[in-house]
Amino acid sequence: MEKLLCGVDLGGTKLAVGLVDQEGGMLDKAVTYDHVDKDEDSVVKLIAESIRTMLINNHLTESALEGIGVGVAGHINYRKGMVITTSNLRGFRNYPFREKLQAYFDVPVVMDNDANAQTYGTFRFGAGRGYNDMIFMTLSTGIGIGIIIDGKLYRGFTGTAGELGHTIVEPGSSMRCTCGNYGCLMALAGGIALPELYEKTVKKGIKSTYAVRKDFDYQSVDGKILKEGLKKGDPATVAVVKEMARYTGIGIYNIFQIFNPPLILLGGGLLELGDLYFNEIRKTFYDLVKEMLFDPIEIKISRLGPDSGLLGAAALILERS
Ligand SMILES: [Zn+2]
Repeated sequence: MEKLLCGVDLGGTKLAVGLVDQEGGMLDKAVTYDHVDKDEDSVVKLIAESIRTMLINNHLTESALEGIGVGVAGHINYRKGMVITTSNLRGFRNYPFREKLQAYFDVPVVMDNDANAQTYGTFRFGAGRGYNDMIFMTLSTGIGIGIIIDGKLYRGFTGTAGELGHTIVEPGSSMRCTCGNYGCLMALAGGIALPELYEKTVKKGIKSTYAVRKDFDYQSVDGKILKEGLKKGDPATVAVVKEMARYTGIGIYNIFQIFNPPLILLGGGLLELGDLYFNEIRKTFYDLVKEMLFDPIEIKISRLGPDSGLLGAAALILERS
């Protein structure tokens, strides 16, 4: 029998474990939220127990697995298998995660950040199938890319390549990024930018159906409010969405100039903003690229679905072989 892949998606709120076949079919899945307040070793133990339970439930033993792939939301040193930091879990500072989980199993364990995991998942099981090179771009609270070159993830020297969110696209900007710099792509086009961007837009004199309320708090502006604002035709929302899309389009243009990829896939919660957002991203890209486009390029939305993190984590096992 063809060996199965085990995926672990370790996020700030959710811990998911799944059994996946070699074509990306999900055979079983378990989700828990019990890990949130646990220390690192206890989280690893919980993961090991979840995997064992899943194997037993499916009348399998560890030997049915090709390996275990883990995607972690955080800053990862892939080479050393370390979690350097993660902003949404307790502890996990310079924590040798891979080695700790490996101690529970004989089959190989690999770990990478969730962006790389998702990228590789889309490459193997999603819209990236059949390509040799592609870029996967996550548009959510932050912005980042995963890079596939010649069928492999490109990670850089230690594993931090693809932090596109921290490339500076507007040096004179007053929008400050989490990194401390001004004018980073994610400070202008990521979900973290929304409250400030909305406030600035309103203060420029663009009408808002929200800000007229006395108790309105700009800090409450998130993707959900923008989605609602688009439906209502709120002028400030439309302006904010277009501005975010424009900077994202600049980011994609920069990606194009560096990598010349045949495919750029977009994923992440901001895509729920719909056609206005996506079309403006594409428009900006084509306006900038002009006649510098010599080869066909596809800019598409990745549709791997809500299990993309888990499928991607499982896929990491295929990448190492
Ligand atoms: Zn930054």
